[in-house]
Amino acid sequence: MVESTQMSREEAERRSKAAIKVAPAKVPVRPAQVPPGAKAAPVNPNSPVKPSPAPVVKAAPVKPDPVKEPVVVILSGGMDSTTLLYDIMNRGYIPYALTVNYAQRHVKEIECAKETCKALKVTHKVIDLWQVGTELLQGSALTSDTAVPEGHYSEKAMRATVVPNRNMILLSLAIGYAISIKAKKVFYGVHTGDHTVYPDCRDVFTKAMKGAALLCDWSPIEVLALYQNIDKGDIVAKGLKLNVDYSKTWTCYKGMEKACGKCGSCVERILAFFKAKVDDPVPYEGGWAKVLNNAIELENKVKLAKGEPPVTPQKPKSVVRVADNQNPPPNVHVTTGRITNPQNKR
Ligand SMILES: [Zn+2]
Repeated sequence: MVESTQMSREEAERRSKAAIKVAPAKVPVRPAQVPPGAKAAPVNPNSPVKPSPAPVVKAAPVKPDPVKEPVVVILSGGMDSTTLLYDIMNRGYIPYALTVNYAQRHVKEIECAKETCKALKVTHKVIDLWQVGTELLQGSALTSDTAVPEGHYSEKAMRATVVPNRNMILLSLAIGYAISIKAKKVFYGVHTGDHTVYPDCRDVFTKAMKGAALLCDWSPIEVLALYQNIDKGDIVAKGLKLNVDYSKTWTCYKGMEKACGKCGSCVERILAFFKAKVDDPVPYEGGWAKVLNNAIELENKVKLAKGEPPVTPQKPKSVVRVADNQNPPPNVHVTTGRITNPQNKR
C-alpha cells in the first residue's frame, strides 16, 4: 500500500489516535493450509506486502458422531436381543451389553450372551441378581420349581412364565448403567409376539418407561424398542441380513442339552424360523422336522379358533430339487426346499 505517502499529516494523526483508542479485535488466525508433503512458500520479511491472514471460517455445529456414541443394550442371550445387538452395531453405535442373572432356571442363555459379546468384542456386564430372583421374584416358572408349560404362546398357561416386573427391573438397571457411562440411549428387544402374555412388553408399558427414563435423573435417557411393532419372524429375517449367528442364542425355557421344542418359547422361535424360511441352527430334541410339525399344528389350532386360514409347510414355490436344477443356489436345501443360511448349518 502506498497511501501513506499521499496522506495528510492531520489524517495520519487522526488514524493513529483512533488506532490507540480502539483495540484490534482478537480474531483467531489459522495457519495457512499447506497440502500434505508440500512446503509452505517462504515469506520475504522485506516485502511491503504482508501475507493476508486466512479467512476466518465459522465452525459448523458439531453433530454427534453415531460411530462413537455409546449405548446400553439389554442382552438376554436369546435371539431377539442378540439380533438387536448386531442391529445397533450395524447402525454405528458402540454397545455396552447388559445381562442379568435373576436366578433363571438355567444359565444357557447367559452363556450364549457371553459368547456373542466375545465374538463381537463388545463390552459386556453380567450382573448377578440371583438373590433378588430367588427371594423377591418367585411365582414364575422361570425362577422357581413350577413346571414349564408347553404349547402355544397365546395359551393362558403361558402366564406362568411371567417373571414379576422383570422388564422394569432390567430397564432400571440399564438406565442407571447408561447414566453412569454417559450414554444417552438404552435399547431393548421387546416385540409384538411378547405382548399377549407379558404385560411388561406392551406398547403402553414401553411408553411409560420411555417417559420415566426422561425424568428419573438429571441426565435424560432415551429408551428405544426397535422391534416393538414387528414379530419374531421379522426379527429372524432382519438378523439373517445382519449375519447374526443364531447358533449362539438360546430360547428354550428348559436348560437341557438340546432345546425341548415344546415349551411356548421354543414353539414361538420355531415358527419364527419357519416364517423366515430358514432352518434354526439350534439342535432340538427329536430333530427339526418333528418340532416344526408340532409347532405348525399348534399354530393352526390357534388360527382355527380365530377363524383364520391355517399355515402350511412350504409348498413347491420355494422347493428346489436337484432334478429341477442341478445347480441350486447354495442357500437352498436341495431336499426340503427350505432356504438355509449357509452360516447357520447344523
Ligand atoms: Zn423349549
